[in-house]
Parts: sequence; C-alpha cells; structure tokens
Amino acid sequence: MSLFRAGIPALLLGVSLVLGTPYAAQAVAAEPAAATVRAEKQPKGPTTKELTKDQSSYLALVSRDHPLDPADYKPKDLRVVAGSGHQLRADAATALESLLKTAGTQSHSLKVLSAYRSYSRQLSLFKGYKARYGTDYAMRLSAPAGTSEHQIGLAADIGLSSGSCDLKACFGETAGGKWLAAHAADFGFIIRYPADGEEVTGYKYEPWHLRYIGVDQAKAMTAAKAGTFEVFHAALVKTSKVKPLTEAEIKKQRESLLVLRFLPPYRDWSIGYDFAR
Ligand SMILES: [Zn+2]
Repeated sequence: MSLFRAGIPALLLGVSLVLGTPYAAQAVAAEPAAATVRAEKQPKGPTTKELTKDQSSYLALVSRDHPLDPADYKPKDLRVVAGSGHQLRADAATALESLLKTAGTQSHSLKVLSAYRSYSRQLSLFKGYKARYGTDYAMRLSAPAGTSEHQIGLAADIGLSSGSCDLKACFGETAGGKWLAAHAADFGFIIRYPADGEEVTGYKYEPWHLRYIGVDQAKAMTAAKAGTFEVFHAALVKTSKVKPLTEAEIKKQRESLLVLRFLPPYRDWSIGYDFAR
C-alpha cells in the first residue's frame, strides 16, 4: 500500500494544495529520518489524464464548462446501492452504503433520492425543468444532458427518510443534513454545491447533492478549505504540474456534445447553440 493510499499525508496534501507546494516534498520534510525510504515510495498525485481527460477518474471535473466527452458517456461499474433503487459506481455505492448505515446508528435516517442518471434521463429531466421554470432558472437548478455529475455515477442526492425538505435548501438546516455535511468526507464524499459557491459552480446551494472523490481527496479538500470542487481541482492541476485543457480542447469537447445533441436519438434543438453558457 502506498503512502498516498494510506491516507497519511491527507492533511499535508490539503495544506500544500493551497500553498501550491508539492505535497510529497512536505511529507518527506515532516519525516526526515525516513526520507530515503520515503523517496522511493512517494505518493503519486493524480495524473494529467485523471484530472482532465479520463471521465472514469474519481477526480473528473464535470460541469457546464467541462462537458463529458463523449457526451453520452456511461460508467462501466455501476451497481445498485443496497436498500435503494438507485445505481452508483461500485466504490461510491459501497461508500454510500457505509455512510447511510453509520448515519442510521446515530439516529439519522437518510435515503437516496437519486444517483446515476443516463444521458437520456438527464435530457428529459432538464427539459421538464425548462418547461416549468424557463431556461435561465432551469440552468441554476439542473444540468443539461452531458454536463451532469449524476451521469458519471459518482453523485447522489440524499434526503431524510421523513421526506421533509427533499431537494430543498432547508435540508441543510435539518439534523440529518448537518450530520451529512459534517461526515460526508469520512466516506469520500463532498457537498458539491455549497451555499456560497454559486458564482463558482453555477448552481444554487444543494446540501443534498453528494459527489464521491475518494476518502483521501475528500479529506484533503476539507483540510484545504477549498470550498468548491472547482477550486480544489484547479489546485490539484497546479500541484500535479499538469497542463489544464486548452481553449481548443474545451471547444472540441463542447462541439462533440452539440453534435450529439442534434442527432437522433437525442435530437433536441430547443436549448439553442449557446446552451452551456
Ligand atoms: Zn444531484
């Protein structure tokens, strides 16, 4: 097991992300006696591919500005989260089962409201929001198909078993919602759309929406007080000395999404060309 996997440098990782210093160097500096041995076992940070190109990476950034490529991407290892009718990728499903079980032992009865959603499911969902609220408000509430984290099988919407405050900001004020915010990282999840994050994420506060990024990184993000995954991801990219996607690459992704949208079976001209902005 590598040092990275062991999670020992999680705190150091978080701190160094903010400072922009390679965390491996800090981990070594903290334990000078073991420096020689550690040098060979230095944790490997995420690679360029994992951060910017691999949609199956637990650190994939998916948003309106970072659409999926291909747009109808479907993860390979989906499975049903026990006790729910919803699917997640295997590791995220196991982590969520553990989270729900632990919450239960602490008198917080939580349930899964939604998890994996396919491209076509997201398409019809977004259409529904648009018909109900208009495009502008729908954009603040929901993701156009091909830009949703739910499509990568690493996001889940959680509610109280009582059903009160389902998918509403008041969920964050309930005992269960507070417990979730305080303990999500222990299971590898983050609250993806925090209260003060709309300017960065483009989404209103969603205390119910969890995103799985793995325990080490979730704890590192918490320790780094990164606030949003966008900020944390940018820090990871910087620290890992990888190049972020170029404008041309982002444009190419966007075009592949548009092409798909306008072709059968998804044919949807209603959003307009500039939907992602
Ligand atoms: Zn959600």
